[in-house]
Amino acid sequence: MEYNFIVEQPVAYRMVKNALKKGSAHAYLFHGPKGTHKLEMAMVFAQSMFCEHTSDGMACGCCDTCLRIQQGLFADIILVDGEKVSIKKEDILHIQKEFSTTALEKYGKKIYILNNCENSTAAAMNSLLKFLEEPEGDVLAILCTDQLERILPTIVSRCQLVPFRLSDYQVIKKYGIENGLSELDAHLTSQLVSNVTEMENLVKQEEYQTALSLWMGFMKKCYEDIQGGMLYLMLEGFHAKTKYSNKEVLELFLNIGVIFTQDCLYQRKVESEDWTKLIADYSKMNISSQKLLSILLSIKDRSLRNANVLLTVDQLGYLLLKEVN
Ligand SMILES: [Zn+2]
Repeated sequence: MEYNFIVEQPVAYRMVKNALKKGSAHAYLFHGPKGTHKLEMAMVFAQSMFCEHTSDGMACGCCDTCLRIQQGLFADIILVDGEKVSIKKEDILHIQKEFSTTALEKYGKKIYILNNCENSTAAAMNSLLKFLEEPEGDVLAILCTDQLERILPTIVSRCQLVPFRLSDYQVIKKYGIENGLSELDAHLTSQLVSNVTEMENLVKQEEYQTALSLWMGFMKKCYEDIQGGMLYLMLEGFHAKTKYSNKEVLELFLNIGVIFTQDCLYQRKVESEDWTKLIADYSKMNISSQKLLSILLSIKDRSLRNANVLLTVDQLGYLLLKEVN
């Protein structure tokens, strides 16, 4: 299983791995800004305790046990989310009651996850505190919050703190959006250049707009057939007489392609209808996203060494067609 947050949350990942290897504490508090994958990490942490096909200590994410946990059908893991409705005292008492009976599954360990746990009533926080003070049996608590300052200090002090941070890319993407870029432009340019001014400049460039629309058109055609996709590229983008720099468009086109395939591979969410649809339709492609990524990377390499744009595009077509035939 590919977990994108492993790259983005090295500190949290290391702490979770250590806990899995050396035995866990009774309670963890995952804290950090929104969008830093705290709940995803909590789920994988919980899955890894039960999965029988772990690799390097981490859950496989696809066995029967992992899937049941993911779908909330595993009796010894309870998830309560305070995102929309606050967590109430009854929710905590319910967990306590469920866990006081003998283990329902065969393992003995029981885990509860409270997501957005800052959104709990005062009575719920007090019950939680009592529960943390007097744990019964092999119970593990994973609390997740965007607002550490809203959690009772007495609760915080009973948990092992696990920090989550926005990655550099997420930080500048956020600035980009605050500065008026669309979610998709911010998503792409934050991975292409290193600051907001450059992002804004890039979005204004015709080469960038052309490369983006070429990539989207190319993928749509490729979903039907790859030959059609290549023809589209030749006619719409990379022929001898275009007014913009072919070379620059090709580099942007390939870089956007790499980001796109990574989005498919890691199931990254981008708030853009067109982009999301393009990702959802990827299953129509006869080439795995892993394979497409490696083709694009090798073409990027070539394009750096070889100045001839048309030859490089030809190579792309050759490798893609070789893969499907
Ligand atoms: Zn598994």
